Amino acid sequence: MRKAWPTCLPLILAAILVPAMLRSQWRTPWSYQGADGPDHWASLDPEYAACNGKEQSPIDIQSAQKADLPALRFEYHSGPLQYLINNGYTIRVNYHDAPGSGNFLTVDGKRYQLTQFHFHHPSEEYIHGKPSDMVAHLMHQAADGTVAGVAVLIRTGSANPTVERIWAHMPTAKSGEEQIPGVSVDPAGLLPRYLAYLTYRGSITAPPCTEGVTWFVLKTPVELSADEIRAFAALYPHDVRPIQPLNGRIVEESR
Ligand SMILES: [Zn+2]
Repeated sequence: MRKAWPTCLPLILAAILVPAMLRSQWRTPWSYQGADGPDHWASLDPEYAACNGKEQSPIDIQSAQKADLPALRFEYHSGPLQYLINNGYTIRVNYHDAPGSGNFLTVDGKRYQLTQFHFHHPSEEYIHGKPSDMVAHLMHQAADGTVAGVAVLIRTGSANPTVERIWAHMPTAKSGEEQIPGVSVDPAGLLPRYLAYLTYRGSITAPPCTEGVTWFVLKTPVELSADEIRAFAALYPHDVRPIQPLNGRIVEESR
């Protein structure tokens, strides 16, 4: 019995602390424009100092070096839409799966767990000087704390059934986490068929702008219908951080 404590105690603490952290994720409010907009994030709170860092996201990908990069292996599956939130900045689906359960991304032998996904309108990433209509950011974390972000660019086209299901329950006002009984969502429905990607080292694109994030920007976009895009834009017409300087970083492109 005594031996069980060192292994299960962190799980118990995480179960208590993680939901509390997500509810009040930002100690200091920030915004996408004005006096507490992106130019001022770093000075709003000492915890946001990284927003002035040298490896920030998003970027405009003007050129990339072709390289033999490892494939992205997604192990996503359908699960209950338990934690849908309008956090005042975006619509986000949170996952609180215990370590080792849930949805996974494996790259080069390293396994990351899906922690949340959310949307920006238009896309934060630029390719050759242009944004896409929207982007989905699927955020993952490895057991050692390393963060991997997958950016799925979105263009106007056919309706996306996964997004349709989420939007049907989208809280229109700022909300806490909402549990949506009887609704399941498969995050794989947000992925394109081809998983070729561009990759670089960057950051979380909102305060606290934490660096050390490996971004995988998928080269193939997915489609949302004009109505689906309009429904999100009605709530969040411009939840986008401006392009950040590359500062000598190299973007690599899978063959
Ligand atoms: Zn994002």
